[in-house]
Amino acid sequence: MESIAIIVPCYNEQEALPIFYEETTKVMSKLNYDYKILLINDGSKDNTLAIMKSIAEKDNHVKYLSFSRNFGKEAAMYAGFCNANADYVCVMDADMQDPPSLLPKMLEIIHKEGYDSVATRRKDREGEPPIRSFFARAFYRIINKISDADIVDGARDFRLMKRDMVEAIVNMTEYNRFSKGIFGWIGFKTYWLSYDNVERVAGETKWNFWKLTKYAIDGIINFSHAPLSAVSWFGVFMTMISFLTLLGIIIRKLIYDDPVAGWASTICVIIFIGGLQLFCLGVIGQYISKMYLETKKRPHFIIEETNDDNAIKIK
Ligand code: UDP
Ligand code: MG
Repeated sequence: MESIAIIVPCYNEQEALPIFYEETTKVMSKLNYDYKILLINDGSKDNTLAIMKSIAEKDNHVKYLSFSRNFGKEAAMYAGFCNANADYVCVMDADMQDPPSLLPKMLEIIHKEGYDSVATRRKDREGEPPIRSFFARAFYRIINKISDADIVDGARDFRLMKRDMVEAIVNMTEYNRFSKGIFGWIGFKTYWLSYDNVERVAGETKWNFWKLTKYAIDGIINFSHAPLSAVSWFGVFMTMISFLTLLGIIIRKLIYDDPVAGWASTICVIIFIGGLQLFCLGVIGQYISKMYLETKKRPHFIIEETNDDNAIKIK
C-alpha cells in the first residue's frame, strides 16, 4: 500500500487542531493509503502540545514533533519534509483553511493524470481588505518579473507532492526559506486546483500587514538579484546626469561668464543624493544580512520532544 504523510505546522492552534484532526481522519480512513498525520508544534504558548499528545496516544497514525521554541511556519514545514518518509506528502494548515475534503481529488489527479504535485490557490481575493489585495497583486507581479521562481498569485502552501519533489525540497538547505518560491524554483509538473477561500474555524491568524510586507521583501531578496542590479544602474544613471550638468555649468561659464547661483538648490540636490545613497546601501545591506545568516549554518529547527523514535531532531 502506498504511504502518505500530512504535514501540519501548528502555532497556538488549541481550538482548531481537534477539529482538523477529526475531519482529516474522516477523509483519510476512507481512502486506501497508509497515512500518517505529522503534527509540528512550533513553540506554541497554549495547550497545543498537550492536545497533540492526547491525540497521538489514541491514534497511532498521528506523530508529533515539538520545537524547542517558535521557529516559524517555514521551519515547521521543513521539519515535516525532513521527517515525512512517505510516497506522497501533503502540507496543510491546522485552521481548516485547507479543506481536507479536497484530498481525495488531489490524490486522484496525481495518480491518473501523471502530475508530480497538486498545488492549490484561492479563486479570488474576496473578503480581503482592498489595500491588502492591491499590495499582494503588486507583489506577485513584481516577483514574477524579476525572479526565476514561478510564483502564482493566490497560491497557498496546501500542496500534495510526490516523494521526488519532497527530496528536492529537503535538499534546498537555505536558511532563509520562502516556500512559495522554492516550490516554483524546483520545477516538476504541477496541477493547479482553485477553490473558494475559507475562513479559519477558530483561533487567530498570525499575520498582520507589517509581517506580510516583511515576508514579501524577504521573498524578493531570496529569489532575485534585481534590486542589486537596479541599484548599480541607478548609480550609473546618476553619474551620467552629474556629468551632463557639469558640462552645462562649464558651457554657461564660458559663454555668459555667469557665476553659479543657487545655494538652496545645491543643498537639495546633496540631500537627495545622500538619501539615495543610504537607500542603496540599505538594499545591499539586506543581501549582506541574509548572507551573514546563511554562512552561520545554524539549524533550521530543534526538536525537543517527539513520539517518533526515528525523527531527525536537528537539521
Ligand atoms: N504557523 C506556524 N508557525 C508560525 C505561524 C503560523 O506553524 O509561526 C502555522 C499556523 O498554526 C497555521 C499555519 O501556519 O497552521 C498558517 O498560519 P495562519 O493561519 O496564521 O496564516 P494564514 O492562513 O492567515 O495565512
Ligand atoms: Mg490560516
